[in-house]
Amino acid sequence: MSTSPNPSILRILSEVFGYESFRGPQQNIIEHVTSGHDALVLMPTGGGKSLCYQIPAIARQNAGQGITIVVSPLIALMHDQVGALHEAGVRADFLNSTLSPEAAQQVEQRLRQGEITMLYAAPERITTPRFLAQLDALHARGLLSLFAIDEAHCVSQWGHDFRPEYRGLSVLHERYAGVPRVALTATADALTRADIVERLQLEAAQLFISSFDRPNIRYTIVEKKDASTQLLRFIEREHEGEAGVVYCQSRRRVEEVAQMLAESGIDALPYHAGLDAALRQTHQDRFLRDEGVVMVATIAFGMGIDKPDVRFVAHLDMPKNIEGYYQETGRAGRDGMRADAWMAYGLQDVVNQRRMIDESPAHDDFKQVMRGKLDALLALAEATDCRRVRLLSYFDEASTPCGNCDNCLHPPAIWDGTDAARKLLSTVFRTQQHSGFSFGSGHIMDILRGKATEKVSQYGHTSLSTFGIGAQYSEVQLRGVLRQLIAMGALNVQGEVFNTLQLTEGSRAVLKGELTVQLRASISQRPEKRSRKPHAPGPAAANLGQDALVRYINLKAWRAQVASEHNLPAYVIFHDATLASIASHAPQSLDDLQGISGLGVKKLQAYGQQVLDVCRVAQTTPAQAAN
Ligand code: ADP
Ligand code: ZN
Repeated sequence: MSTSPNPSILRILSEVFGYESFRGPQQNIIEHVTSGHDALVLMPTGGGKSLCYQIPAIARQNAGQGITIVVSPLIALMHDQVGALHEAGVRADFLNSTLSPEAAQQVEQRLRQGEITMLYAAPERITTPRFLAQLDALHARGLLSLFAIDEAHCVSQWGHDFRPEYRGLSVLHERYAGVPRVALTATADALTRADIVERLQLEAAQLFISSFDRPNIRYTIVEKKDASTQLLRFIEREHEGEAGVVYCQSRRRVEEVAQMLAESGIDALPYHAGLDAALRQTHQDRFLRDEGVVMVATIAFGMGIDKPDVRFVAHLDMPKNIEGYYQETGRAGRDGMRADAWMAYGLQDVVNQRRMIDESPAHDDFKQVMRGKLDALLALAEATDCRRVRLLSYFDEASTPCGNCDNCLHPPAIWDGTDAARKLLSTVFRTQQHSGFSFGSGHIMDILRGKATEKVSQYGHTSLSTFGIGAQYSEVQLRGVLRQLIAMGALNVQGEVFNTLQLTEGSRAVLKGELTVQLRASISQRPEKRSRKPHAPGPAAANLGQDALVRYINLKAWRAQVASEHNLPAYVIFHDATLASIASHAPQSLDDLQGISGLGVKKLQAYGQQVLDVCRVAQTTPAQAAN
């Protein structure tokens, strides 16, 4: 942090949002934007992007500069985003297709009168002639203050959420050249970044890049065996009763996994684009509003979800690249408390992802970029050193081993798979030479391990010189070698029905012994059970004493009631950390509540007395309250 903050933005931070200090580069960004300059903000999920446009919007409206238009692709979340601002006493509105015509008219009237601080709308609406005419009118009166373009990576085909409507946003610069713009995203890779600058004409914008580290997230990648059971164990062992997201690749798999979890007593719901829109919204609302819901979803779910207490993100199928993986896992632990990113990964993932690229109708250049990105993710999955160091270095950030990933916590034994790799490749070569066509991985491993199965005998492969020369390797070990070889491009998988293995240009170096193959000595370690009480009330309450815990539980019950009356998620009223802080302070008066993080002026007025009452009751009737 460079200089001491401008007093007016510091006052907004503490009075409106109830926070004492800025995080990371927030202050610089906010001052830059408030003073009317363009900015491109790259910050990891959970880093605190919202304040980077909300505080400038408030400061500029206070200074008579008018309305901030917030461009957001997320119609389904606008209601809650605006609700959260209302709770903080900010005049915000949204315009989208969920509003009745009358409600939309009222918003448009407030817009005309300049009575709004922030207006949320989706790009397809903003670029309509009708909306632009409304902006023209505001602009003519000097009341168009700022454009905030959230999820700015949606403008780029290299980002993972490409939305063609975003391309139309270049009109904002062309039409309102003097109005400052701030674009924000959690997608950092250089290609996407350059594309955002070009497409949104942000050449003159200052670039603000935060550290991408999310130290509270523990990264774990396990070898996939029986993925569903592995997932169930992981949830039961580490996250019972806690909210989480499970990502699967296909809709069918989403349904299966959600059902399996539900049958095992976990409050799990499916979410994918094939579900009816109303049902999707219901499931999303349950995830946001109820505690401890596990959402099993395709990547259609998650963008813009700002639920702070998601305790884990699990991947049952591998994403396409590190950007996607990091964005998805970043949805865990936005509240800064401990959270897990867990992925089960196997040979089939490598095969599927490679095939999807190979068979896509895209240009060769594009495919080449996609392959490179996939390779980086494969290398992460196969890594035997710190996962975080690799993740951060992918985003050009240097770091040292983190102590909070699977490899740091349980350094894996490493074995030299070079010999096994050469034997595997020569078996692929010899079967092809012998029979004139190629075979799948199961068959190749049988030959190598000297298993004279019916198929092996039928093709006469018991007579191959490689038959049985890899008997010392287990199937698990050989699968690891295969994965590594495919990940390295030293082996190719092809075929619609049967996945057969073929040698590639890259095979030669391995066969000649010019390249070594290092592998983790499989048998993924089972992480020791964390010392948590069953049904512990979550990490926010970890350090509360008995009395404070009673207050905390009562405050949560009270919060649930208020949230449901306001039709908002509980965390919009108060975060768990705020409730825990109140509970531990044992406040007796409104004065005692001053300065608690997350408790701004409006919330203190609205809820201060009720909070005191809840704390007082909890003090007098602890036994009753504990239920
Ligand atoms: P992003 O949009 O970058 O994913 P958010 O804007 O949702 O992140 O912020 C993540 C969480 O951090 C939110 O719960 C927010 O209230 C909190 N937060 C942001 N800035 C601060 C700050 N300066 N002090 C305390 N909490 C903050
Ligand atoms: Zn580590």
